[in-house]
Amino acid sequence: MTATMENSVITTPTVPQTPGEVIAKYQAVAPVDIVSITQELGIRVWEMHDLPEGTSGQIWLDAVNGGTSGFSIGVRASEPLSRKRFTVAHELAHYILHRSKLDGGLFEDIMYRGGLSSREETQANQLAADILMPFPLIRKLINEGENTLEKLSHRLLVSPLALKIRLGIPLQPSNS
Ligand SMILES: [Zn+2]
Repeated sequence: MTATMENSVITTPTVPQTPGEVIAKYQAVAPVDIVSITQELGIRVWEMHDLPEGTSGQIWLDAVNGGTSGFSIGVRASEPLSRKRFTVAHELAHYILHRSKLDGGLFEDIMYRGGLSSREETQANQLAADILMPFPLIRKLINEGENTLEKLSHRLLVSPLALKIRLGIPLQPSNS
């Protein structure tokens, strides 16, 4: 007897998506939907009006209101949207890379120094940039005519400074 696949139903097992798979799903369109990525990875995102002075964001174990991971990310409501988006991406990066160190929560100051090592903060900034400014998407936008720093940063909803760093454009002294 020969087995046949013709009439068999192939069910797709429910395999949890890795962070990389979730992130990649959202990187074809600008701006990269960082809030959907974060929520899909089980973290709720909040705009906060009561963060401590000098704090741009935080990630914490939020037993009451956190997402399925148990975590919430908060950003300072009054900061510009591009800045808030980078803060969410930076905190999400800590969750992906440094989760074992987050049980006590992190408060990020305006330089994104949240209490981990400077190497770990650099890693979080790098992954945040990778998420928000994927090179294939940048190339696509340039091909569509978004060929200035201003246009590109507007479409990506990132700060021109973050994009400059991403593209390796030397920064000018601020007094020039
Ligand atoms: Zn940090």
